[in-house]
Amino acid sequence: MARFTRIAALAAVAAAFAFPALAQTAKVTPLGGIDGEFCPQDRALVFEDPNGTRILYDPGRTVAGADDPRLGKIDVILVSHMHGDHVGNAHNKEPNSGTCEKPDTSVSALPESLAVRIALAKKSKIVSGSEMPPFFAAKLKAGGGDPANAVLARFGGSVTISGIRIATVTALHSNGLDPDYIGGDLGKAMKDVGIAGDVGLATGFIVRFSNGLVTYLSGDTGILADQEVVVRNHYNAKLAVMNMGDGFSTGPTEAAYVINELVRPVSVIASHANEVGTVNGKVRAGSKTEAFIKAVKVPVYVPLSGKTMEFDATAKCTVGC
Ligand SMILES: [Zn+2]
Repeated sequence: MARFTRIAALAAVAAAFAFPALAQTAKVTPLGGIDGEFCPQDRALVFEDPNGTRILYDPGRTVAGADDPRLGKIDVILVSHMHGDHVGNAHNKEPNSGTCEKPDTSVSALPESLAVRIALAKKSKIVSGSEMPPFFAAKLKAGGGDPANAVLARFGGSVTISGIRIATVTALHSNGLDPDYIGGDLGKAMKDVGIAGDVGLATGFIVRFSNGLVTYLSGDTGILADQEVVVRNHYNAKLAVMNMGDGFSTGPTEAAYVINELVRPVSVIASHANEVGTVNGKVRAGSKTEAFIKAVKVPVYVPLSGKTMEFDATAKCTVGC
């Protein structure tokens, strides 16, 4: 028995040397509202590629401004759509301000958005789809940054940055640009009649890290045939970050259907619960988060703020889960 174990271990080591990229891991660190918990506003995740490139996905309201010390270097920001809880219309005063249930997100990020402020401070690229890049380019230019850092990846196309391939996929959601980002007479006139600016469709993302790990970031979405036809059949995503908060996107039952029947990944990270998902780091009984975990057939990991998880090329969690 011991002999076989030793042979298996040697084989694993040999495989790791033969395919070094496969043995490398992509790191995922949630930047949520309260350390060690999964809170209602939590969306922001920092992905770190094995080559050191750092990607911030949907900063939302829980990143405490561009000088939040948890950010570090940010090379790329992904914005799924323009709603304030994703692009960031306001944010935490500082990390852990307020409580999990009632965070102190009293700092306005208008009219630039938190995504733009971070991009200006860190000289990050903002990758988005639809007609969002011209908005980001104009805001970057107005802030003294480089408008070329607003990068387009429209449906079916992709961009490769530092060996990481990024594509957008459809999300069944709305994507109105709040007039607060527009300002002036036009912004006021739009606000008075209750309409938003048109920046095209909301999106999700497919990110292929340099170790080969393919990740699906759902964004806010309903159930969509593309989740099978495009996300599974074409991109073959193995790790899914699935929004499951209900009301604004799929709820736990719908999100579980998306995972079990359409995307069929190896591992899932729950996101966007719009509830207190954990208490003292443990999933809260009776929560949507619990219902989602119970309904999904593969491992679901809860994004506890500040707790880094590592995934290998096959989307197996190797550290931190
Ligand atoms: Zn949302």
